[in-house]
Amino acid sequence: MQNSATPTHCPYCALQCGMNLTPAPDGTVEVSERADFPVNRGALCGKGRTAPAVLSSRVRLTSPLVRSEGTLVPASWDEALDRIAEGLSRTRAEHGPDACGVFGGGGLTNEKAYTLGKFARVVLGTSQIDYNGRFCMSSAAAAGIKAFGLDRGLPFPLEDIPKSGCVILVGSNLAETMPPSLRFFNELRENGGTLIVIDPRRTKTAEQADLHLAPRPGTDLALALGLLHLVVAEGRVDEEFVRERTVGWEDARAAAMAHWPEYVERITGVSVPQLRETVRMFCEPESAMVLTARGPEQQSKGTDTVGAWINLCLATGRAGRPLSGYGCLTGQGNGQGGREHGQKADQLPGYRKLDDPAARRHVAEVWGVDPDSLPGPGRSAYELLDALGTDIRSLLLMASNPVVSAPRAAHVEERIRSLDFLAVCDVVLSETAALADVVLPVTQWAEETGTTTNLEGRVLLRRQAITPPEGIRSDLEVMRELADRLGVEKGFPTDPEEVFEELRRASAGGPADYSGITYRRLAEENGVFWPCPANELAGAANDVAGTTNDAAGTTNDVAGAANDVAGAATHAARAANDLAGTANAPADTANDPAGATPGAPGGDGPAPAGDLGDAHPGTPRLFLDRFATPDGRARFVAVSHRAIAEEPDDDYPVLLTTGRVVAQYQSGAQTRRVDELNAAAPGPFVELHPRLAEQLGAGEGDPIAVVSRRGRAVAPARITTGIRPDTVFMPFHWPGEGRANTLTNPALDPTSRMPEFKACAVRLEAVRG
Ligand code: SF4
Repeated sequence: MQNSATPTHCPYCALQCGMNLTPAPDGTVEVSERADFPVNRGALCGKGRTAPAVLSSRVRLTSPLVRSEGTLVPASWDEALDRIAEGLSRTRAEHGPDACGVFGGGGLTNEKAYTLGKFARVVLGTSQIDYNGRFCMSSAAAAGIKAFGLDRGLPFPLEDIPKSGCVILVGSNLAETMPPSLRFFNELRENGGTLIVIDPRRTKTAEQADLHLAPRPGTDLALALGLLHLVVAEGRVDEEFVRERTVGWEDARAAAMAHWPEYVERITGVSVPQLRETVRMFCEPESAMVLTARGPEQQSKGTDTVGAWINLCLATGRAGRPLSGYGCLTGQGNGQGGREHGQKADQLPGYRKLDDPAARRHVAEVWGVDPDSLPGPGRSAYELLDALGTDIRSLLLMASNPVVSAPRAAHVEERIRSLDFLAVCDVVLSETAALADVVLPVTQWAEETGTTTNLEGRVLLRRQAITPPEGIRSDLEVMRELADRLGVEKGFPTDPEEVFEELRRASAGGPADYSGITYRRLAEENGVFWPCPANELAGAANDVAGTTNDAAGTTNDVAGAANDVAGAATHAARAANDLAGTANAPADTANDPAGATPGAPGGDGPAPAGDLGDAHPGTPRLFLDRFATPDGRARFVAVSHRAIAEEPDDDYPVLLTTGRVVAQYQSGAQTRRVDELNAAAPGPFVELHPRLAEQLGAGEGDPIAVVSRRGRAVAPARITTGIRPDTVFMPFHWPGEGRANTLTNPALDPTSRMPEFKACAVRLEAVRG
C-alpha cells in the first residue's frame, strides 16, 4: 500500500469528516488535516483523531473463531465459513427460509449494505432482514416521506445553516455527537441568526443557544403543536405558501388549535412566554430551519412528532425555499446510505419499496432473478430481535452490537442466547460477537475502499489507505464465500467498485438515484449529492417509470403518475424520462447543468467542479420548485399529543432519557478499545438534579441504581442543575452493570417501528456499602 497520505473519511458518525491517513514506519497510521473537505475543513473530534488506534488494537480479531465445547477457539477461514453455511442451511431446511435472520448496521458502506440485502433475499430467500439504523433516524425518514415524498436527512448542505435566520435544534447535542458541525451554528450566530435548542438537559449545545427550552422528555410533539397554535393565533401563517405548495392544512390547523399554549405548558413544562419567544425568533427572519435528531425521533410517536415539526415549517413557508427547511441530523456513519440500498426490512436498493411490483421487477432484473422469488417485507429491527430463538432460529449479524445498543437489552441478549446458530462479522469481540457460534474478523474503514452517504445526502468515497492484517477478509468476500457455499455462484463480486456499478443500475430511476455517480466522480468532486441520474442508464430507468406508470394506469405523465416508490414516484418517473430524453423541454432535462436540477425533486444543482459534460451535477438542495409527491405539494399531517408509552407512577416516579458522550460512539465496541477515549469517558453515569440526589441521600459519584420494569442498572451519580428535576440521564455506550439499555422501553412507533429509547419510567435507589 502507498506510504503517502490518502484522503478519506472518518469511520464513525454521519458527518463523515474528511481526513488524511499516512502509514508510519512503525506500522501505525497517522491522521492529518484534510482541509479540502467542506463539511469539517480539517477539524476532527477525539473519536476521529484516534480512530486508527482500532486498526492496530491488541484486541483486534485476526483469526476466525468457532465455538468448540462452549468456548470460541481459532479456526481456519474454510472451517468457519463451512460452519456458517451449514448452520444457515440446516435452519432453512428444518424451518424454512424465514427462520434465517440477517441484521446489518448503519456503519456498513453502501456496497456492503446493498450486498447484504441482496444476500438475504437472493441467497437465503429470507424476508427477515433489518438493521440497527432502525434505532437511529427511522421516525424522521417516515415523516419525511409522508410530508415531502422523499427522505434525505438534510435537503440542503450544512453550509446553508450559517446563512439562515434561525435554527431550532430539537433533541440534538451536536457538541457531543458531532463537534466539528458546531462551527456552522457559531457562524449562524456571528451572522446575526439565532439558535434555539430544545432538550430536557442543558447540554453543551444548549449552553451555546440564544434560547434553550427544556421540555419534559417525550413531549416534543405537544411543544410543536403549541408553537403552531401560536403561529396561527398571531397571524404568522404564510397563506400563499400553504395555498400554492401544500395540501392538508385545514386538518393540521384544527389539530394544532386544540393545543392551547397553557395546555402545552402543562404538558411540556415550557412556559407560554418561552413558546411566544420561540415563535417570534423563528418567524421574524426571512428564513429558518428546524433540525431534529434522536430526541424527538426515538419515541413511540416519533413519526408524528417529526411530522408536527414539519407542519410548523410548512405553515410558516419554511420548507422548499432557500436557506429554510426541515432536516434530520442522521447519526451513524452511513446511516443515510445504509437505509437506501436494501438492508431495511421493507426496502430495495434506490430507496424503493419492497412491495412495489415495478420496483421488484427492476431490481430483480438487475440481480438476474425472478421478481416472484423475492420475499416480501420482514420484521423491523426490534421485532426481529424479539423473534430470535422462536420464529427465527439462525442469525447472520454484521456491524452491530445489539446486546448493548438494543432496547430492553437483557431480553434481547436472552433471545440471542436462545438461537440455534449465530454468526457475527466484526473487528473486535463485541458483547454480541462473544455469544456467537462463529466470529469472522473483517476489514475496517482504512483497509478497504467503499462509499458512504453522509447526513447531507452527499455520497463520499472512503479510500483504502493501508493493507489489512494477515488473516482478515472483507464483508464482501465473506458474502461471496457464503453465497458460493449456499449454491449461488454468481452475482456477489468482492471488488467494491464493481458492486457500486451494480448498485448504480439497481438505484436508477428510484428515489435515491445514484446512477450518475461513479468512483471517478466521487474522487474528483469530493462527493456528489443524490439524486444524480445517469444518461447511460436511461433505458433501465425509463423501464421503471414506464412500468410504474403503467401499473398506475397512467401514461408517462409525470404529474399524473401514482407511483408509491417510497412516495417519490414523480421524481422516479421524471428522472427516468429525463434520462431517456423523452418528452422533456430542453430546460427541463438532465443535460442542463446550469438550470434547475432535473430528475430531482425540485432541487437546484451545484456548479460542478470541472467539466461534467452532460453528466447530472447532483442535487445539494431539494424541493425548491416542488416536493417529491405526485402533485409536487407537501403534505401536512394532522397529529395530536399523546403520552409516552410508560408514564411515571408511584412505583416508577422518574423519567429516564438516554444519549451519548463525546468520547464514545454507539455501543462503544470500537471506541471502548481506545485508551485515550476511555480515559476521557471511562464508564456510564447517572445524571440527576440535586433535588433528586438529596431525596436519595446520594452525593457526587455515589452509586445509584436505576430500576425500570425491564431491569436494573447501576452507575455513579453525576449531580447537576442542568437537568430537569423529574428526569435522569444515562449514556448508553457500556455493557454490564451500567448498561442503560437494560432499562429502555421497546414500545414501537406504529409507522417507523422505532423503539422509545428517549423516555421511560424508572425509580432510583441508593446503593449502600
Ligand atoms: Fe467527525 Fe463524527 Fe468522526 Fe468526530 S466521529 S471526526 S464528528 S465524523
